[in-house]
Amino acid sequence: MLRSIRQRIAVPYAALILVSTVVLALFVSTYVRAEYLTDLESHLVADARMVGQAVLPALRADSAGAQVLQTLAGQLGDSLGARVTLIGVDGWVLGDSYEDPLGMDNHLTRPEVQAALADGVGVSTRRSPTLGYDLMYAAVPVILEGETVAISRVSLPLTRVQERVDRLRNTVLLTAAAVLLLAGPLVVLTAEGIARPVRTLTQLAERASQGERSGRIRTASHDETGRLADAFNRMIEETDRQMDALASQRNALTAVLTHMADGVIITGADERVRLINPAAARLLDTAEASAVGERFVTVARDHQVVEIWRRCLASNTEQTAAVEMVGARPFLQVVVTPLDGDSCLVLLQDLTRIRRLETVRRDFISNISHELRTPLASLRALVETLQDGALADPPAATQFLGLMQTEVDALAQLVEELLELSRIESGRAPLRLCPTPVADVIHPPVARLQPQAKRAHLRLFVELPEGLPDVLADVERVRQVVTNLVHNAIKFTPLKGTIRVWAEPAGDMVRIAVQDNGIGIATDDLARVFERFYKVDHARSGKGTGLGLAIARHLARAHGGDIRVESVEGSGSTFSFTLPFAHDRPVDSVQQG
Ligand code: ADP
Repeated sequence: MLRSIRQRIAVPYAALILVSTVVLALFVSTYVRAEYLTDLESHLVADARMVGQAVLPALRADSAGAQVLQTLAGQLGDSLGARVTLIGVDGWVLGDSYEDPLGMDNHLTRPEVQAALADGVGVSTRRSPTLGYDLMYAAVPVILEGETVAISRVSLPLTRVQERVDRLRNTVLLTAAAVLLLAGPLVVLTAEGIARPVRTLTQLAERASQGERSGRIRTASHDETGRLADAFNRMIEETDRQMDALASQRNALTAVLTHMADGVIITGADERVRLINPAAARLLDTAEASAVGERFVTVARDHQVVEIWRRCLASNTEQTAAVEMVGARPFLQVVVTPLDGDSCLVLLQDLTRIRRLETVRRDFISNISHELRTPLASLRALVETLQDGALADPPAATQFLGLMQTEVDALAQLVEELLELSRIESGRAPLRLCPTPVADVIHPPVARLQPQAKRAHLRLFVELPEGLPDVLADVERVRQVVTNLVHNAIKFTPLKGTIRVWAEPAGDMVRIAVQDNGIGIATDDLARVFERFYKVDHARSGKGTGLGLAIARHLARAHGGDIRVESVEGSGSTFSFTLPFAHDRPVDSVQQG
């Protein structure tokens, strides 16, 4: 088989040249041979006639003997350069320029003699039994006074004709060989010229199909292969552009999928996960890499999520539902949208935070209502008592008014603390930070609370080491934190207890602590004491609002520090918070709280 374009062009061309020259050679030699023979035939007939004329006188003379005719035949044969035979009408040879007539057989049955006698001219080409090779014979009757007296026959061997025809054929074949020799390389070169760009094109196409699209075909020709190469180059460039566009689109999509907070999963018609983003893997507590190709049921591991997904598959419409996942897993909003070809887009939105915020808001409202209800109920009771006649009893009325004053003060404090908390939480309370000696934030509030501690028979004292660096603090606010902590310590420490306020360096911070040996806090409650309105024991916390520690934590954090508690129920608690050193901060900077 011809495997390459070069062979497919070169071989048929070479074959065409070869076949056409051989056919030409055969045709030419056959044609020329026929022409020669026709030519020879008419020459021989003319010669035979001329011989007939030449021997007439000899035949007319009765005296003419066999010898005369034999001599005449020899002379005529010599001058014509052919064999001349004179045959009597009875068929016996009268004279022959090649042979002795006496040794020759009767020629009456020779085809040319028969034809000459019948039609006036006879021509025959055949092998001479006498000479043993091919000859052309032409015979005509010799007519004397209207009567055939002899037959004149002239013949020539065909070897010369054959020789000339052979020479001609050889010349044609030689010419054909020369043409082939010259045309062969030309055909091969032409074929190569067409095949080379096609080969290059094939190689580039193969490489392009394997993803390597850097190559281009350089071509100077403007024919079909040139245009094909141009088209190929353009196609590669276009493919490149499209691949780049696709790649950047894919990168953008990957970036979005990787960084979005919502979980995205795409499932295929085979119900397996085709794509899962990190958020989805996190929400479903699975590994991204191993989830791809897994069955969705196995990856989701939650019958509610699977149920929503199945409903979407069955109805081919978008399905949405909120799902409370079991255990410590999140609260999810699941949206499943059908895609083309039985694929599904599963969107997982984490509503845990929103739900927690809602809970906090609900709790806040119920807490605040609860906090307001107690003083308002006492106020109403006091007012009613006054209306019911207590007004008439001035000493009692004065006592009731005093009680009312206390309730109003409690309400005012609650509102004040709420406002303060809201200001700090919303960032509307800027901190006035300046380098401050630690003693400045501790001594004044402790001094203010000393009388209260005395009344409760508590020992309240401060211990500050020498050389504590200054802290960067909003003095008033940090004093408030200390006040809250010492106030709590006084409230929750029984008679004769001890409250120690101290400070120490901790890294590049100063830790300020309020330690008491009071009732302490149960381990379960420790984590929650900093929440708004949280009170361990409502009965014992008395008129506290539950906001003091929440405010203290906000303020400590606003200063860049933190607050913590260590406590053993029944043995006492230590609340401490940190403040940064002042040295690396610019003086008088103002920071949002
Ligand atoms: P309150 O105004 O009720 O004191 P806080 O936020 O200051 O509110 O305190 C919250 C709760 O933490 C208190 O009700 C109390 O149960 C507990 N607590 C705070 N400080 C102490 C302490 N020093 N010893 C024991 N319990 C404390």
